[in-house]
Amino acid sequence: MLEVKNVSKVYEGKVPYRALTDINLQVDKGEFVGIMGPSGSGKTTLLNIIATIDEPTNGEVIIENKQPHQMSKNKLAKFRRQELGFVFQDFNLLHTLTVEENIVLPLTLDRKSVKEMKQKSQVIAETLGIKEIMNKRTYEISGGQAQRTAVARAMIHEPKLVLADEPTGNLDSKASKDVMEMLTLMNKEHDTTMMLVTHDAQAASYCDRVVFIRDGKLYSEIHKGDSQKVFFQQIIDTLSLMGGNDNDLSSIRLS
Ligand code: ADP
Ligand code: MG
Repeated sequence: MLEVKNVSKVYEGKVPYRALTDINLQVDKGEFVGIMGPSGSGKTTLLNIIATIDEPTNGEVIIENKQPHQMSKNKLAKFRRQELGFVFQDFNLLHTLTVEENIVLPLTLDRKSVKEMKQKSQVIAETLGIKEIMNKRTYEISGGQAQRTAVARAMIHEPKLVLADEPTGNLDSKASKDVMEMLTLMNKEHDTTMMLVTHDAQAASYCDRVVFIRDGKLYSEIHKGDSQKVFFQQIIDTLSLMGGNDNDLSSIRLS
């Protein structure tokens, strides 16, 4: 459902910086793919290009047989609103709105009826365990609840592809686990394709496949077998093999 073809990215500036080189990636419908690599390796750049937030310098991105980067501004805005869902590290909730108002935001943009919005938000809140906080403001809830709210908002319009950049980056391990379980549940229940950028091996172990990037190039990829525990260990091993001058990895480097 997603194809990244020979994508390269050069950030222009006084000194041009090559952030990605010839990235090729194919993702099946319903697949949950993790992207890992040292900081500065190009993970966010790749995710932003897939999300159509940023343009590739070369290459193309095909989502459901469409080429969003070739679309007109209006068409692209609609495509992004209807087909994609986003989850960010800092939750990106609007603080003047309640939890429920934040969740239904993607629907209000498409002028859905209040009845439909209410009904959908109730169903998703039930699944994500945030029914009791629907009328609270964002400053009255915990980080874990804020991220579940963001997950609900990313999923309420039933997007084809959900993109998450370090969604557990600001959460403690219990809340991280909760959020990853919610993302996995949504992935399984709706067969939603998901891409997750993370430096957390525990979070990545929820994925079906993890793709490793180093210096803007694909380094390797591994698939999960039957055991999440074994997969977690394989992720740790690959990270330590890959090395890199990265604090993210210092705790698991052996030498
Ligand atoms: P990651 O998410 O893996 O930490 P990024 O994709 O954010 O890495 O960044 C990859 C590289 O591109 C880094 O060296 C970063 O400094 C550089 N970079 C990111 N965004 C920009 C930008 N807007 N302009 C110039 N360089 C950038
Ligand atoms: Mg990043």
